[in-house]
Amino acid sequence: MYLRIDRLQIELPRVWEPDPNAAAAVQELFGGRFGEMSTLMNYTMQSFNFRGKSKLRPFYDLIANIATEELGHIELVAATVNNLLVGTTESLPPTEAPLAPGKNMRNSHFFTETAQSSMPINSMGRPWEGGYVFNSGDLILDLLHNFFLENGARLQKLRIYEMTQHPVAREMIGYLLVRGGVHALAYARALEELTGVTVSKMLPIPDIPDDRIPETRPYREQGIHRTLYRFSPKDYQAIRAIWRGPHPEGGELIVRDGPPEGGTIPELPDLPESFAPGYDPETLKIIAERLMKNL
Ligand code: MN
Ligand code: MN
Repeated sequence: MYLRIDRLQIELPRVWEPDPNAAAAVQELFGGRFGEMSTLMNYTMQSFNFRGKSKLRPFYDLIANIATEELGHIELVAATVNNLLVGTTESLPPTEAPLAPGKNMRNSHFFTETAQSSMPINSMGRPWEGGYVFNSGDLILDLLHNFFLENGARLQKLRIYEMTQHPVAREMIGYLLVRGGVHALAYARALEELTGVTVSKMLPIPDIPDDRIPETRPYREQGIHRTLYRFSPKDYQAIRAIWRGPHPEGGELIVRDGPPEGGTIPELPDLPESFAPGYDPETLKIIAERLMKNL
């Protein structure tokens, strides 16, 4: 089962510069083949279907624990997409065609299907699909796939980084590059334990150090590139059997109990021109205030 914390894994910059086409590009990191939905659902399904759990506890714990972190990553990408869409349209009466800017945007579904917010789709509007999940049941093959997936995800993040200079998108990408580096190394370490092959020698893929991306640096300075969070009050302790020893770039690998401190989720403004949360938000506010008195 899951517990949930009403925070993002990092504090996103409070910069509100609408860029709906950048938002469409960032959707690749949500619902693309190598997006966060894919890492989330691959590791989730592999953990649900894991055989020989008690015998292979460190490997089960690793996959289940990383799956839980990925759940917070889709949340972070969604917050980024939402941020990039704020301010695209003006609050005008329907007769003034307030949603006209949506006509010429790459993803016009932001303006028709949602109230200018994130979707479980890729950058071309294609819905995320279960066919992106690989779960053969062979532990080595599944871990090898996960290693491939994390590196494919890294390539996509770097390419999206090269597509937009938006500070919110870049902050999110910087953090997720660092976290993806942890996951790629964790799966490499797991494969090394199982096979004796030094998989981590292949890293980084693509062959560009994270240091070249300035937004990764504050996280690296905090040692986040060496830290595996244990996303559970008590469970998944056996990740320590795999996440230990030196990091290839120096320093020790650390398991930290509990999630990162994180940051607040930016509050999205009312959007009467999209009828969200209603055309007259003041009426909804009065109803909500009445309910809150019952607390
Ligand atoms: Mn991720
Ligand atoms: Mn990952």
